[in-house]
Amino acid sequence: MEQLNFITNILGIKDKNIIILDYLDSGTHKEIIAKLDYPTPKCHSCHGQMAKYDFQKESKIPYLECAGYKTLIRLRKRRFRCKVCGKMAVSETSLVKKNHQIATIVKQKITQKLIEKVPMTSIAESLSVSTSTVIRQLHKFKFKTNLNYLPEHMNWDEYGFKKGKMSFIAQDYDTRKIVAILDGRTQATIRNHFLRYSKQVRSCVKVITMDMFSPYYDIARKLFPNAKIVLDRFHIVQHLSRAMNRIRIQIMNQFDRRSHEYKALKRYWKLIQQDSRKLSDKRFYRPIFRSHLANKEVLEKLLSYSQELRQHYDLYQLLLFHFQEKQTDHFFSLIEETISSVNPIFQTVFKTFLKDKDKIMNALELPYSNAKLEATNNLIKVIKRNAFGFRNFDNFKTRILIALNIKKERTNLVLSRL
Ligand SMILES: [Zn+2]
Repeated sequence: MEQLNFITNILGIKDKNIIILDYLDSGTHKEIIAKLDYPTPKCHSCHGQMAKYDFQKESKIPYLECAGYKTLIRLRKRRFRCKVCGKMAVSETSLVKKNHQIATIVKQKITQKLIEKVPMTSIAESLSVSTSTVIRQLHKFKFKTNLNYLPEHMNWDEYGFKKGKMSFIAQDYDTRKIVAILDGRTQATIRNHFLRYSKQVRSCVKVITMDMFSPYYDIARKLFPNAKIVLDRFHIVQHLSRAMNRIRIQIMNQFDRRSHEYKALKRYWKLIQQDSRKLSDKRFYRPIFRSHLANKEVLEKLLSYSQELRQHYDLYQLLLFHFQEKQTDHFFSLIEETISSVNPIFQTVFKTFLKDKDKIMNALELPYSNAKLEATNNLIKVIKRNAFGFRNFDNFKTRILIALNIKKERTNLVLSRL
C-alpha cells in the first residue's frame, strides 16, 4: 500500500479518490490499475439520494512517460444509481475530463510541446497519443485579429505551405508578431483582409517592406496611403546569394560525381555563400583534403577548380560588400559594367536589380536590420519541414501564430487556461 501511494505521488495524480490497486511492468511499458470511488453524491437530475452501484468497464488512459517507460492507467470508475429516479451517474475526476480519454496533464504536455515547436508527429509519438489528438489540442489555440491596430512598419511575404499553395504573411517588422496569415495571395484576398480595418487604422502604417519580385506594390499603395513601399535588404541579399549558389551547382555538375572537385564543391557550399570577411583562420582536419585547413584555404582550393567560379565569386563578394557598406553608386555601376558578360543566372538577377533601382536605394536608406526577418524565415522553414498535418491551412497558420505570437513568459498562462 505504501508503495502504491508512492506511485500516485510520482505520477502527480492529485485526485485523492483514485486508489491504485496494482502495478504491472510488461518490460516495454508500465500499467497502473486503479479505481475511482468516493462517497455517494446527490442525484444530478432530482437531487434524490443515490446509492453505490457497480464499477464501469475500465478506461485506458495513456499517461506521461514514467522513468522513460510508456505508462497506461487502467481506471475503473464507480457508478452510482439514484434511489428515487433510477438515473445512473459515473464518478468524475480531475485526471480526465468527463467523456474524455486523454489525461489533462497529457493535454498540457501537448500544448507545451506545440509552443516549443516540436513536430506534431513527434508529439504524438512521444506521448502515445494519436496525431488527431495533437491536432485537436492545436485547435484550442484561438487568435483574434485586432482590427484597431496595425504596426507602423509591416513586412509582407509569401510562403508555400504545401505544393502549389501559397500563403500571404504580414508581420510587424519590429516585434516579429504576425499581423495576418492568409490562405492564398491574390489581390482580392489581401484587399478583403485589410479592408476590414478602418481607413484611419490603415493610415498608421508608415513603411511596408517586401520582396523585390513582389506583385503587391500597387495594392499596398492603394490600401495604405501613408506607407512607403520598400524592398527589404534581406530579400535583396537572398536573391544575390541564391544566384551564386545556382552558379556553384552548375559548375559542380560539370565534374564527375565521384570526382574530388565535385565532392568538395558539394560539401563546402557554405564557404562560397558566406561573406568572405567572416571566414575564420582556424585550422581543422578536412577529410576530403586529408589535411588541416582553415576555411580560407578550403575556399581557395574550391575557387582553383574553375575560372568561371572564381570570377563570379569575386563579383558576388564585391557586390555584397558595396551593399552592406551602402555604397549604392559602386553597387550599381559594377552591375552595369558586368551585366553583359556574366552567367545568365546573374544576368537575370542584375536586370531585376536595375529595374527596381529606386526601391533598392530606399532599402539602403532605412535603418532596419535583416536579422529579424531572417529568423522568421528560418522558423517557418522549420515548421514546414515538420509539416505533418499541414494539408490543412488552418493548422499551418495556428502553428506559425503559436511560434511567433505567443511569448515564452505567457506560456504558463496559456497552459493554465487550456
Ligand atoms: Zn434522481
